[in-house]
Amino acid sequence: MTIRACVLREPGRPPAVETVTLAPPGPGEVRVRVAAAGVCHSDVHLADGLLGDGRWPMVLGHEGAGVVEAVGDGVAGLAPGDRIVFCMVASCGECEPCRAGRPTLCEPAGAASFAGSLPGGGSRLRDRDGAPLQHALTVACFAQHAVVAAAGAIPIPDDVPLWQAALLGCGAVTGFGAVANAARLRAGDRVAVIGCGGVGLQVIAAARLAGAATIVAVDRGAGKLERALRRGATHAVDAGTEDAASRIAALTDGGADRCFEVVGRAETIRAAWDALRPGGTAVVVGLAPRGVEVSLPAIELLSEKALIGSYYGSGDPRRTLSELVGLVRDGRLALDEVVSDLIDLDGVPAALDRLRRGEGARSVAVIDPDLAGARPGDDAGEIAARAAGSATPGAAR
Ligand SMILES: [Zn+2]
Ligand SMILES: [Zn+2]
Repeated sequence: MTIRACVLREPGRPPAVETVTLAPPGPGEVRVRVAAAGVCHSDVHLADGLLGDGRWPMVLGHEGAGVVEAVGDGVAGLAPGDRIVFCMVASCGECEPCRAGRPTLCEPAGAASFAGSLPGGGSRLRDRDGAPLQHALTVACFAQHAVVAAAGAIPIPDDVPLWQAALLGCGAVTGFGAVANAARLRAGDRVAVIGCGGVGLQVIAAARLAGAATIVAVDRGAGKLERALRRGATHAVDAGTEDAASRIAALTDGGADRCFEVVGRAETIRAAWDALRPGGTAVVVGLAPRGVEVSLPAIELLSEKALIGSYYGSGDPRRTLSELVGLVRDGRLALDEVVSDLIDLDGVPAALDRLRRGEGARSVAVIDPDLAGARPGDDAGEIAARAAGSATPGAAR
């Protein structure tokens, strides 16, 4: 079939919407009509060539939701009409990390993601000249339709609007999983979150729900910090005018128990380390470009501080996703709060530019307006207010 999709031709050249062809789903695969897709900082890194050479041409997009419209041979548990969220780690269940209960480290899923192929091998996408296009992180959902592995499509109930559900598949799983599975946050912990974009805001909401006593949000600019406070942060530090580590130490009585770095830079990883109290753990959630190195004062390891990484929530994404759906349905997690801009497929390149400039929170591309569900998209005033960071908070935590 012929579809419109946002294609990265090469780094440095803005991605653009092209007409491409999508092959039918192979064995173990499904085709999804995409309702909406979130624009994530990893898309910027891919578009800028910072995650390794040769990852182009590629159809971008890895955080989204839609409706199954066709299933390949051997697919159980999914049928046309099912509403799904994309899961960008379609784990195999059989490799060593999968058997050890660490599906986010699944070896074949990781290899496919890096190669820009589907876990079943190869690409289902071709450009107008018949040349293959890579699938971004095995999803490629900045497109009207996507073929993915069945394990990369998680069913969700009917009452979560798809434009909001889109955010579950990367930002929410990554943020909530980092709190629950990587940091193992305990009630009463003093927490700092460095970076309050689309994922950082999910970390804050998760820390609040987990009972953190103090949540210090760190970013630059009043708009981002206001959004963080509405999301549940107890204090805000503007890193543009204050020293983050010393302010965190002051606000947490001597240092954070858990510090989340959600930027992906050497300076902010170091700040997360410096902000810890003895015995504390810094969790790096931000995706750093290849080549970035971090140095630490090794003597401080004596104080049993730890620095750990987290990828895609560090747990079982399928389970985390279903827990998140439960929180949304109970009214304890408001997904719409992190959306600063509702756009269409053609608006993706401008949304990538906003992320490069550090503006706003999540942009969500509404790709099929009829499927995406009721949203404030028709009310220009509300969207403008949201973008300016002055919208009324929704049902929070
Ligand atoms: Zn992402
Ligand atoms: Zn595996």
